[in-house]
Amino acid sequence: MPLSLIDIGANLTHGSFDDDREQMMQRARDAGVTRMVVTGASSQGSIDAAALAEAHPGTLYATAGVHPHYAKDYDDATAPLIRELASKDVVVAVGECGLDYFRNFSPREEQLVAFRSQLEIAAETGLPVFLHQRDAHDDFVEVLEPALPRISRAVAHCFTGEHESLREYLSLGLWIGVTGWICDERRGRHLHDIVSSIPDDRLLIETDAPYLLPRTLTPKPGTRRNEPAFLPEVLRIVAQARGQSEEHVARITTENAVRFFGLD
Ligand SMILES: [Zn+2]
Repeated sequence: MPLSLIDIGANLTHGSFDDDREQMMQRARDAGVTRMVVTGASSQGSIDAAALAEAHPGTLYATAGVHPHYAKDYDDATAPLIRELASKDVVVAVGECGLDYFRNFSPREEQLVAFRSQLEIAAETGLPVFLHQRDAHDDFVEVLEPALPRISRAVAHCFTGEHESLREYLSLGLWIGVTGWICDERRGRHLHDIVSSIPDDRLLIETDAPYLLPRTLTPKPGTRRNEPAFLPEVLRIVAQARGQSEEHVARITTENAVRFFGLD
């Protein structure tokens, strides 16, 4: 059986793909990555992600939301825009949204407002939510936990934390997205030891392209740009760390993505 993977987080509207977007998507399909969820991270980015997905039915889907970096741009027009995008068939999640105190590109107060608003939209629309958290664990859980009973499903995308926060996320019912961070022998080593504590039915894989090029790729690509065609490398390292076959991890992560996003 050829692979049929789903990249649940790919920033395919990123300018670095402007010159070869169609070829990049063909390389993904050739590598067995048959479906990709395009991350919407700002108002314009979410509009673009939905448009890109509508141009590639059955292959691309999109999320609609505002990343905490752009929370300072979250104004009266933003929530209605996300709601409108959320009504499209290709938009399968609200987000990415959450808190990022690592860089604080937006003031924390504005991050909290944008996060709460998007959780409310997820609750209203019934769509799952695509979550980002960096260096903001306590506030993140404090805002998220009371909202969860009204939210269908939630994924902590690009999980890079320690075992303690993984346990807490799992007990909250979150699904866990693992990227090529796990392929980084410097920063991702700890993920090898804890990725096996993610139950089979909560594990998702993603590239976060064009970011986070897997460092274990051989031969090394000529550019630092990551792309969905490299998702099988994330699969390989995750399977190795979990002591499971790649076929098994491919099957469960694809089934999980279909269930999580409600794909056909
Ligand atoms: Zn993110």
